[in-house]
Amino acid sequence: MSSNNLNKKEEDLKELLRPEVRAISPYRGEVDNFEVKINLSGNESPFDLPVEIKEKFKEEFDQHDINRYPEIYSERLQQTLASYLSQELNKEVSTGEIIVGNGSDELLDMLIRTFVEPGDVVLSQAPTFSMYQYFTELSGGKYKEVPLNDDFTFENLKAKIDEFEPKLIFLCSPNNPTGEIISREMILSLANYFSGPLIIDEAYADFNDFDLMPEVENHPNLAVTRTFSKAFGLAGIRFGYLYGNKVLVEELEKVLKPYNLNSLTDILACLILENNDIIKERINLIKSERQKMYQKLNQYQGWRLYPSMANFIYIEGEKTKEFKNILNQQGIKIRSYSKEPAAIRITIGSREENKAVLKAFEEFKAKN
Ligand SMILES: *Cc1c(COP(=O)(O)O)cnc(C)c1O
Repeated sequence: MSSNNLNKKEEDLKELLRPEVRAISPYRGEVDNFEVKINLSGNESPFDLPVEIKEKFKEEFDQHDINRYPEIYSERLQQTLASYLSQELNKEVSTGEIIVGNGSDELLDMLIRTFVEPGDVVLSQAPTFSMYQYFTELSGGKYKEVPLNDDFTFENLKAKIDEFEPKLIFLCSPNNPTGEIISREMILSLANYFSGPLIIDEAYADFNDFDLMPEVENHPNLAVTRTFSKAFGLAGIRFGYLYGNKVLVEELEKVLKPYNLNSLTDILACLILENNDIIKERINLIKSERQKMYQKLNQYQGWRLYPSMANFIYIEGEKTKEFKNILNQQGIKIRSYSKEPAAIRITIGSREENKAVLKAFEEFKAKN
């Protein structure tokens, strides 16, 4: 075919796309123009898998028939997770109240595909995790946000619910990127007022002292999502879960793909759940590093630091751009937000990595 005809065919293909797909740009991280030596941009755990767990994984892997499909809905993992949650929450949790996903992103997408029809509204806060908007728009939904400032009150949210009549609400607590908590009272008032699903994304709740899971049994429209990509240090295996009311879970399961988790994820997630003591130790270490980092960075007068309940610190202020440049020159990658005022988000890393950040901070202070 001549190249003209080929181009025509390419154009024709684009014409066939759903308008939502045509309108959206793919999710891409920031492009680096430096060699990344320390990555503090993704809120991952700085710790490698514990050696004992690696050894156990290798043993199980050797015995595993990788030519076979995994369990359809990861039944063994569901069972292990239900026992873990029963212990954590000090009450009986059944497998009928949980869904396991290929990362919690899969579950956020599934929630939208279950409830949102083209034109329906999804409500969330701003700033927050970008995937709520991405998945909503991809499904043809309309995304509306309420600014997370002093006006973020139950009364104001109630007014937004009346105005937009959302199908679904996502709240992220502790929030990415600011690390703030949304109060339990506010969430429960919303769960009472709103009749649709109210989803609390607790990707960072392991770094915090309270969570909403114990409230799920009294609020059938309240569900919580969690991930093993952050505190549990398993971003590479893609595992997250949702905990909610049995009726909600039963409906959501219809939208889930069979075999959504691969067998290696099944094995490793079970192992980490059965050996979770070390994760708790590591969480405490991150929390104490977070406090040190906050106290140091807070010495700079020109910034607004947000008190964080997660494993990162969010800073607003024009001069964050300069600090970012200094970090990048030293091979340290962080997240930045081009808005007014400019902002950055720094993941809490290992002790050595955080020292490198603070060394760059001294350099920044000397110049500013
Ligand atoms: C990282 C993150 C997720 C995604 O978790 P995965 O399980 O890796 O898909 C979900 N929500 C928030 C707020 C996050 O920061």
